[in-house]
Amino acid sequence: MSKYVVGVSGGIGSGKTTVTNAFAKLNVDIIDADVVARDVVTPRSGGLGAIVEKFGPDILDKDACLNRRALRQIIFSDEQAKEWLNNLLHPLIRQETLRQTIAATSEYCILSVPLLIENGSYKNVDRVLIVDVPEETQLARSMARDNADETLIRSIMAAQASREQRLEVADDVIDNSGNESALMEQVTHLHHCYLGYAAALG
Ligand code: ADP
Repeated sequence: MSKYVVGVSGGIGSGKTTVTNAFAKLNVDIIDADVVARDVVTPRSGGLGAIVEKFGPDILDKDACLNRRALRQIIFSDEQAKEWLNNLLHPLIRQETLRQTIAATSEYCILSVPLLIENGSYKNVDRVLIVDVPEETQLARSMARDNADETLIRSIMAAQASREQRLEVADDVIDNSGNESALMEQVTHLHHCYLGYAAALG
């Protein structure tokens, strides 16, 4: 079990995925909140069973998987349904995250949470690592990666925590405005710090 958990976050296009991939190459176990959120509603899971019971079988697609688009449409216009869903999913996500943390075998593990600041889960990790770039870089890299237009990326950025809000809760900051080798140097340095912090816990 990894006793020491480093939460990693950053805005869209900041380089979270690139950073967590670099830690994974150093044999650090990564727990990805987006993957956990999907794991709790896989076919035959209790989570999906409860959703079908509440909204009916039309909430499934033809492969018996959750039709996320249909679910999004329901909760977009129904505040009570949204609250019901959050009350169902949040404890399941917490439980599954804990299970994966306990199952992690590296000296410390990384919990990658896009909304670490927004949903308050930065309070539940031992250390907060923020990947930071100027907004213009965020925009340019996201547009290039997703082949998306500026309006879409700007609207996603506007819905996320601001750069200042993220930096306020950061214990460590990776400045990803440079090239990928500058990024790797920072990851390697932090890796050694985290090994030290985890070892100090005993
Ligand atoms: P996030 O997961 O935070 O949305 P990504 O890790 O996917 O961000 O990075 C966004 C895009 O920018 C990707 O295409 C990635 O390859 C690229 N990228 C990340 N870091 C750098 C860097 N230092 N220099 C140039 N491109 C980068």
